[in-house]
Amino acid sequence: MNDPEASQDRYALVGHPVDHSYSPLIHRLFAQQTDQSLTYELIDATAEEFEVAVRGFKAAGGKGLNITVPHKERAFHLCTDSSDDAREAQVVNTITFAGGAIIGHNTDGSGLIRDLTVNLEIELAGKRLLILGAGGAVRGIVSPLLEAGVELTIANRTVERAVRLQALFSGRPEFDVCGFDELSELAEQDIIINATSAGVRGEAAPFPGEIFMPNTLCYDLSYSLRDTPFVILARTHGAGRTEQGWGMLIEQAADAFEIWRGVRPDTAPILVKMRPGQDANEPSVTD
Ligand code: NDP
Repeated sequence: MNDPEASQDRYALVGHPVDHSYSPLIHRLFAQQTDQSLTYELIDATAEEFEVAVRGFKAAGGKGLNITVPHKERAFHLCTDSSDDAREAQVVNTITFAGGAIIGHNTDGSGLIRDLTVNLEIELAGKRLLILGAGGAVRGIVSPLLEAGVELTIANRTVERAVRLQALFSGRPEFDVCGFDELSELAEQDIIINATSAGVRGEAAPFPGEIFMPNTLCYDLSYSLRDTPFVILARTHGAGRTEQGWGMLIEQAADAFEIWRGVRPDTAPILVKMRPGQDANEPSVTD
């Protein structure tokens, strides 16, 4: 009997771990909506296994990959060519295969900007914006945020990593970097983005409560069907508005889908389907 999946274009997410990823569900919903025929797999690969996993998927006829923690930087170095956004950030979250070439893209930045400005209707120009964290995700979002005209500060547990990131973007408008011990001295921020993985690892986030003000929008790149530890911390200390990274997750996936398939899904119905409802303890993911 013919296997219907055998004729479908294959995509996958490579990371470690990947077992709880929502990407297969999101891309299945995109494919249904746009009438595309494809499969989307999960590939769990350690640092040592990463290159073999990517090359093996390509050799087996795979069409494209998403890349997640901890491989985004590794993926950039494996690519034979990359888009401008990936080249500047030196991190890749989306790969396309073209003949012998492995082409890297980064859709984290475009995904975040679209969620902030379109879905959440936030005007970024002139806003004071603080990013907590300086890892791979931050590399991808710095340029688009600077282009959107924010007054940017990046604080990281390991200050040297934030300083290295500052050097990477030396050709861009200037931004400040500091350690968490200097956070209390900063001017009031309009937007605070948590880009640390402290919460997902179950570690306490060491941010002083006074950075959260009634007018601050606190956006957690991490997402959960319940309130994330950062969202709970920000609310406890009086932050006026809190959001999780569901919208960014879906928008960056839509940008990757468009790179692969040439059609951008309508993200609005997927967002409604996946974002937890007003009562964040009541998951609304039904698929
Ligand atoms: P990285 O591993 O590259 O970076 C992790 C960051 O978290 C570093 O800045 C690290 O600081 C910091 N950190 C880790 N543990 C702690 C702690 N206990 N206290 C303080 N800081 C800590 O991860 P990524 O940048 O790729 O991802 C960061 C988060 O963003 C993840 O939770 C990821 O799931 C999420 N994400 C969400 C996306 C979305 O679409 N919504 C897209 C991409 C990422 P240090 O340098 O000191 O180690």
